Amino acid sequence: MANPFAGKFRVEGRNFALAKVDPRDDSAFAGKEKAKAQIAEDAEAINQLQDRLYAEGDRSLLVVLQGIDCSGKDGTVRAVFNTCGPIGVEVTPFKVPSEEERDHDYLWRVHKACPRKGIIGIFNRSHYEDVLVVKVKKLARPEAIERRYEEINQFEKMLSDNGTRILKFMLHISKEEQAERLKERVTDPTKQWKFNPGDLADRKLWDDYMAAYETALKRCSTAHAPWHVIPADRNWTRNAAIARVVRETLEDMAPKYPPPDGWDPKTVVIE
Ligand code: ADP
Repeated sequence: MANPFAGKFRVEGRNFALAKVDPRDDSAFAGKEKAKAQIAEDAEAINQLQDRLYAEGDRSLLVVLQGIDCSGKDGTVRAVFNTCGPIGVEVTPFKVPSEEERDHDYLWRVHKACPRKGIIGIFNRSHYEDVLVVKVKKLARPEAIERRYEEINQFEKMLSDNGTRILKFMLHISKEEQAERLKERVTDPTKQWKFNPGDLADRKLWDDYMAAYETALKRCSTAHAPWHVIPADRNWTRNAAIARVVRETLEDMAPKYPPPDGWDPKTVVIE
């Protein structure tokens, strides 16, 4: 896939080590101000490409956002996709599965939420929770979890073969940055609603989560559904990287406005 910028963040090969990615790395950018201007430009380009994708109505783009609590998943959606407006973009958050969802296989709710043709679908958390939180908290049998990596690869291959381009982003923050953001959630009245005391229990399992992330990134970064690890301690590097990779991908897809279907603009007379 011809995505030069994406290559800086893409997970390739089984030797990948999450610990080697610095969450504060900004070497892909020429400074904060330039990057911020670029985000606005890329968001506008994404908006225009999304309009074409919608008009073409033949393919879709699925953007998977994963990251530990406070990694900035909601902020990313706002920064990268707000310019698009609500018509062709659908955001699906994946929470603790409902009783009905638990009565089905783990991909059932995910498949139902996959974007229709013409739509950019954004997953805020995803089926990867089933090899992350489920693994860390031992919510399923180890053999079942072990099977899931390949099942997920097959599932994503099927989506890709059927017209869904897939991009997966892990928003990588440091443990120190998470502490700062949690403190803000506790003290800032406009953010207190986001604080969940359960997040502190997850924080204690930080190393287990990072190990589970690393395994998922290594085993499920494929040509048809690549993982990207995004330095996310700073919002601007996070937004700039994701906006750029999404834009590149849409440009590579090159959606086209369809020609008039069964009528000729030269012969239509509007009185
Ligand atoms: P946010 O994504 O903003 O943190 P919540 O605070 O509601 O939203 O968190 C969603 C919670 O749902 C997370 O703790 C996540 O681990 C959990 N979750 C998501 N999918 C699953 C799953 N398949 N099994 C168990 N827990 C899950």
